Amino acid sequence: MYSIGIDIGGTSIKGIISADNGYRSEIVRIPTEATYGGIRILDNIIRVIEHLMQRVDSSIKISGIGIGSPGFIDMDGTVLGGAGNLPGWEGIQIYTPLHQKFGIPVTASNDVTVMALAEYCYGAARGANNCVCIALGTGVGGGLIINGQIHGGTHGMAGEIGHISVDTNGRECNCGQRGCLEQYAAAPSIVAIAKAECEKEKNYHSTAFAKRVIDSPDSVTAKLVYEYVADGDPVACNVNEIICEKLARGIGIVANIIAPDRFVLGGGVMMSGDIIIDTVKRYVSRYCWRSIYERFDIRAAELGEDAGVLGAAALAMRGIQ
Ligand SMILES: [Zn+2]
Repeated sequence: MYSIGIDIGGTSIKGIISADNGYRSEIVRIPTEATYGGIRILDNIIRVIEHLMQRVDSSIKISGIGIGSPGFIDMDGTVLGGAGNLPGWEGIQIYTPLHQKFGIPVTASNDVTVMALAEYCYGAARGANNCVCIALGTGVGGGLIINGQIHGGTHGMAGEIGHISVDTNGRECNCGQRGCLEQYAAAPSIVAIAKAECEKEKNYHSTAFAKRVIDSPDSVTAKLVYEYVADGDPVACNVNEIICEKLARGIGIVANIIAPDRFVLGGGVMMSGDIIIDTVKRYVSRYCWRSIYERFDIRAAELGEDAGVLGAAALAMRGIQ
């Protein structure tokens, strides 16, 4: 059985044809052109699907289309919002035009939910029937697999782990809450915390990291912070402790509710290596009921950037079983 997986990102739309016999096509990628609005995004999804279909033998029957999208997708395929990087995408009805065009079932879900499904089917969450994926990137997203099924909640909004408050007096979030996990563990937040910590050191230029951040603050990235963490710079390491302690609180709260077998941490921030997982593990037991804590593990995502298209294709495959 063949299906198409589509991954909508802020800069590009990617697509793949995947089959349950292990076949995977090359990934097709075109610009999202998000600034032209939601209808243009939809047109570009259609272009990716047409490109993919041209690449396979016409005798191959595609059984469904799966889509991973930023934001929330209601059960009828309407984008409910939450996709800040795709202006004009909110309110777009996805299923009807694609179904009319291609005549096959269409299923869409949140991009991190789709990533969770990919890791469950092919990656770091294989065999973990209850698992939680957390994507640490420009924001912090979450995806839930419960009893081997994705759990989106009634309106696709379940798993908003990034907006769990992990510090009631903490950093203000643009969602209106205070101390959201996203304000600590997203890449821009890591940079902001690093700058604030280095500011405390300003008079001393006490470490190479503090000097680097104070001398050229505009070029600081989360990746740079973790290069200094890997080198053992004490100020950078302190930033890592702050971030991972908050991340551990978020994980502990979710663990107490879901009691999963596994957490999978992915996204661009995790490209910096296993140091985040190692540090988080030191803190999680503080924030989680012991009997639950003893029964899950925390691993790094395995599929990287391909998780989106593979999970979307798996989503389509499940929709038609
Ligand atoms: Zn928030």
